[in-house]
Amino acid sequence: MIQSVLIANRGEIAVRIIRACRELGLRSVAVYSEADRQSPHVLLADEAHLVGPAPSAESYLKVERLLAVAREAEVDAVHPGYGFLAERAHFARAVEEAGLVFVGPTAETIEAMGDKTEARRRMQEAGVPIVPGTVEPLRDPEAALEEARRMGLPVLLKAAAGGGGKGMRVVASEEELPRALEAARREAKGAFGDDAVYLERYLDRPRHIEIQLLGDTHGSVIHLGERECSIQRRHQKLVEEAPSAVLTPEEREEMGAAAVRAAQAVSYRGAGTVEFLYQDGDFFFLEMNTRIQVEHPVTEMVTGVDLVQEQLRVAGGAPLSLTQEEVTWTGHSIECRITSELPEEGFLPSTGRIGYLETPSGPGVRWDGGIGQGFEVGLHYDPLLGKLIVHAPDREQAVARMSRALAELTVDGVETCRDFHRRVMAESDFRTGDLSIRYLEEHPALLAEEEPGAEGRDPRTAAALAALLEAERRRRLTPPRIGKEGEGRALSPWQTATRPWAGRG
Ligand code: ADP
Repeated sequence: MIQSVLIANRGEIAVRIIRACRELGLRSVAVYSEADRQSPHVLLADEAHLVGPAPSAESYLKVERLLAVAREAEVDAVHPGYGFLAERAHFARAVEEAGLVFVGPTAETIEAMGDKTEARRRMQEAGVPIVPGTVEPLRDPEAALEEARRMGLPVLLKAAAGGGGKGMRVVASEEELPRALEAARREAKGAFGDDAVYLERYLDRPRHIEIQLLGDTHGSVIHLGERECSIQRRHQKLVEEAPSAVLTPEEREEMGAAAVRAAQAVSYRGAGTVEFLYQDGDFFFLEMNTRIQVEHPVTEMVTGVDLVQEQLRVAGGAPLSLTQEEVTWTGHSIECRITSELPEEGFLPSTGRIGYLETPSGPGVRWDGGIGQGFEVGLHYDPLLGKLIVHAPDREQAVARMSRALAELTVDGVETCRDFHRRVMAESDFRTGDLSIRYLEEHPALLAEEEPGAEGRDPRTAAALAALLEAERRRRLTPPRIGKEGEGRALSPWQTATRPWAGRG
C-alpha cells in the first residue's frame, strides 16, 4: 500500500484527493503556484510546496519541478487529478521512471486512447460499437467523398489526434467536403502537429451518456453505471446526472458490458470513463478518458463507492473493494458546475476576490469546492469554482433539491453561472428529461437574463419580475448586515428571503 501522495493539481479536485488521502490515512502533499498561496488545497494538505509562478506552463505543467518536489517530500505516488498532466503519457512515464506510482493507467493505455483512430480501431476489435465512419486517416478528397457518399451526409470530420473539438467540421453537402477537409487538416496540423483526419456519421440529436469504470492490477474490471452529461456548451459539460432519465436496465447492462470490454482491451487499471453518444436506443463509442472526471461525484452518490479512494487503493496494488454483483444504484444525483462565468454574456469569464462565500448544506447536498473567502479568482486557470451535487430518492426530488441548494449558494466578489443553473432546473424539457447535446441551442432563453417562458406573461408581471431579479442581484452584491456596523456577517438572498427581519437590526 502507498503511504503518501503528491497531488499534481489545484482547485476542487486537489481538495477532493486530499480528503480521500486523509480518510485512508495517507500523507498528502500539495503543490501550488504563486497565484494559489491562499487556496484551500494548500491549507488542507499535510504539506504544500511552491512550484512556480501563476502561468500553468511554469508551475502545474512543469514535470521536472513536480518530480523534484516528489523526491524532496519523499512521496510514493503521484495523483494527477484531471486536466493539466492527467492524460499526458510522457508524465505517467516520467513518474514511473522516477520510481513512483502513477495514480492512473499505464502510459501505453493513455497513448492508445489519446489517438482517436487508434482508439476506434481497438474498440471495433473489442466489439464495442463505434460511430459509423472510417478508422483510417483520410488525406485524399476523392476517397473522402466516396466514404461520405457511402455513409450519407451530413458527416463529421474529426482530427485523429483531436481534443477540445479542434479540427472538427460538420459537412452538410458533397460540394463542401474538399474545402472542409483542407480546413480540418490545417487546423489539426496547427493544434496537434498532425494533419490526420477521419469521417464519422453526424448524429443529429444524440445524448451524451458515459460509463464509469474501475480496474485493478489483478485483472478485474467493473462498471458503475452511467452518467448523462448532455447539457454542454462547446463540449464543456455544465450539468450531469446519474442515472440517465432514459436508459433501461437492459441498456445499462449492455453499455456497461461494452465499456468493460473496452477497458479489458487496453488492460485498464484505475478509474476511467467510456463516453458514448446515444440516439434512439443505439449507442456509439466516442472516447475513453483515462482519468477521474469532474462529474465523478454523481456516480459516488448513487453507488456509495468512493472513486478516489478506489483509485488510490488500486494504485497501491490492492484489489477492487467490490465486485460487479455488489454494485447497486440508489436514488438520483445531479451535479451543477459552478464556474466564474456569465452565461448571460456568452460565458464571459469574471474575475475578482471572493468577499463572501456561503455554500449550501442540509439533506442530500454536497459541495466540492476549491475556493474560500479571500480567494482571488483570476484568468490563469479553469473557471470551475466548485461543484454542487445533490442526491434524492428520485429525479423529481433531486431537481427540487438542486433548486433549493442553488438558492442557498452565495458567492460574492465574482459573477457565477448559478442563476443559469436555476433556470435549467425550472425548464420543462429538463424536468421531463428530454435532453440532447443540442439542449442549449434548443433553449436559447436559458442564456438570457429573464426567466424562461417570460415572453408569454403580462408585460407588467414581466417588469415586476425583472425588478425583483435586479433587486436580488443587488442584494447579492451588497449583502445586508446583522448587528453593529463592521462586526456583522453578510446574509445570502435565501436568508433574507426566509428571515426578512434578519437584515433590519
Ligand atoms: P473532442 O475530443 O475534440 O472533444 P469528441 O470526439 O469527444 O471530440 O467530440 C466532442 C463533441 O462533439 C461530443 O461531445 C459531441 O457533442 C459532438 N460529437 C462528436 N461526434 C459526433 C457525431 N458523430 N455526431 C454528432 N455529434 C458529435
